[in-house]
Amino acid sequence: MKPDFPVIKADILIVGGGSAGAMAAIRAKEIHPHQEVVVLEKGDAKYSGCIARGMDALNIVAVPGVATPELYVESNSLACEGIMDEPVNYKMAERSYELMQKLVSWGVCFPVDEKGNYEILQVHPKGRFCVTMKEPELKVILARRMMDLGARVINRSMALELIKDDGRVCGALAANVRTGEVFGIQAKSVILTAGGTARFGLPNNGYLYGVYDFPGNTGDGYCLAYRAGAELSGFEYTLVYYIVKDINAPLLYITLTRGCHLVNAMDERRDKDHPSIRTMFLEHLEDRGPLRIKLSHLPEEKIREIESILFTTERPACERFYEGRGIDFRSGEIELWPTEVFLCGGHGLTGVRVNERAEASVQGLYAAGDTSLVARGHLSGAFVFGEVAAENATEYAASVPHRQLDPQAAAAFFDKRSRRMGQKNGTVTIEEFEYKVRRLINDYIRPPKNEYKLNRALWWMDRFRRELSEMVRVEDAHDLFKTYEVENIIECAVLSATASKERRESRWLPWHYRSDFPTRDDSQWLKHIVLTQGEPGGGVNVTYKDIVRMKKGD
Ligand SMILES: Cc1cc2nc3c(=O)[nH]c(=O)nc-3n(C[C@H](O)[C@H](O)[C@H](O)COP(=O)(O)OP(=O)(O)OC[C@H]3O[C@@H](n4cnc5c(N)ncnc54)[C@H](O)[C@@H]3O)c2cc1C
Repeated sequence: MKPDFPVIKADILIVGGGSAGAMAAIRAKEIHPHQEVVVLEKGDAKYSGCIARGMDALNIVAVPGVATPELYVESNSLACEGIMDEPVNYKMAERSYELMQKLVSWGVCFPVDEKGNYEILQVHPKGRFCVTMKEPELKVILARRMMDLGARVINRSMALELIKDDGRVCGALAANVRTGEVFGIQAKSVILTAGGTARFGLPNNGYLYGVYDFPGNTGDGYCLAYRAGAELSGFEYTLVYYIVKDINAPLLYITLTRGCHLVNAMDERRDKDHPSIRTMFLEHLEDRGPLRIKLSHLPEEKIREIESILFTTERPACERFYEGRGIDFRSGEIELWPTEVFLCGGHGLTGVRVNERAEASVQGLYAAGDTSLVARGHLSGAFVFGEVAAENATEYAASVPHRQLDPQAAAAFFDKRSRRMGQKNGTVTIEEFEYKVRRLINDYIRPPKNEYKLNRALWWMDRFRRELSEMVRVEDAHDLFKTYEVENIIECAVLSATASKERRESRWLPWHYRSDFPTRDDSQWLKHIVLTQGEPGGGVNVTYKDIVRMKKGD
């Protein structure tokens, strides 16, 4: 049966045109210029994703003569408190320098001193891996490159469902978020690069979109993979950052590595103690916050340097924010505060489980960046695994034929869509509903956690699933897409509460702090908690997987 909606044919479909997605598209076209590569992007790939414009550092680069991939594996394993697969992280570090040099050849600026040395900072427990980058045009460079190479980028389009045939992923259904038009993509392999769940907990400022990470990331990559049967892990790693109050914008590496002072509420200096997000957040929880960054002692040229990074490379909106608050770095100070709770593979450990070929546990499916579990890989992980995924997805695509998109799956999708569009008389707006869902995530999933709270989270999420299809008002395509996003946020909350309940210990303090199991227990819990979709109507399947070690001689 022929589907009665437009279908695009692709060799590789990439879901999400952010850092990992753009890099995957570029690599796929580099190695096989004639293959058809389609990138679906919810926003506009020119400025979408975590790198809205640029970034101040490539956090993990094993620069020859300074650090090695082996040292990175050792160091990151400490940072992950043992819950890290070694081969995946080794692969990332092994290719990181080559990747950085590729960026240099594209014109990305990594400043060097008069001797030609890069600025490399220590932000990991062992070794120096964080290379300063100064490139406000990074995202534009990537977006332009993928388009110039011939990848077909479809902006303002959200992937809504993966389609499988005979156990392998063979395409997806998607829709234009402005017009609501649905279309299918027949693809031989699919790479998920849709970021993490940025809109998870509610930030203190109460704004739905005032979050640290890119607000278009609503866990869609996790949910697409989960519903297609793939294994997920690390959903108990519930991150809270500690950065600029109210705007939730980054500044720590930029300021603390350039001589700024960090003081707590009692004016005690903390910058000499190698502060981390974790130690600052803990100090805040111990009632010695808020911490503040002081710059007034710095010479004018240092202040200008910091301003130029914060106001161009990071986020131009920062300049307006400080102006609005009347903060001048020469006299004022910057107040820090905990952010909302969020899920992310790049900063944390939440993701689709992949091996060192970026393969998920379902045939034809690959994942990279914050959607995947390349533990704490940051931008380097997104770039390297974007490339790795493209290489292996290309090889796979060359070995299989296209398959028809299953008409039954499409029919079920259209049924659900028309039921949703029929909710014209719902009593609650989708914005009010999202606010409540995320407020309850704050109450019951944000650490500290315990069994009682996590059970309450599961109870509420079950109720929200029903209310989403009964009470929420859907007046137009805009509301419809928000219901899909909130549905994914609810799904992520169920996954997070389930994994958090299962891990009956505390680890990665304070991010998985169980007040009823306050200590770390390596004898029981030095393993992954793996989640897969249960039978229809059933819950989440929970299993354990051992940590994957490097084989001797690797
Ligand atoms: C504020 C901030 C500062 C950072 N600073 C640094 C740094 O200095 N150094 C460093 O190494 N790392 C840094 N990181 C981490 C790094 O940027 C991320 O790990 C990396 O960019 C993640 O890339 P990604 O492709 O997975 O996600 P993103 O770049 O966020 O891309 C995901 C894309 O998927 C799209 N999308 C989502 N759902 C769908 C869907 N259903 N259909 C279609 N498209 C979809 C989104 O619109 C988005 O464009 C920072 C992160 C943040 C948030």
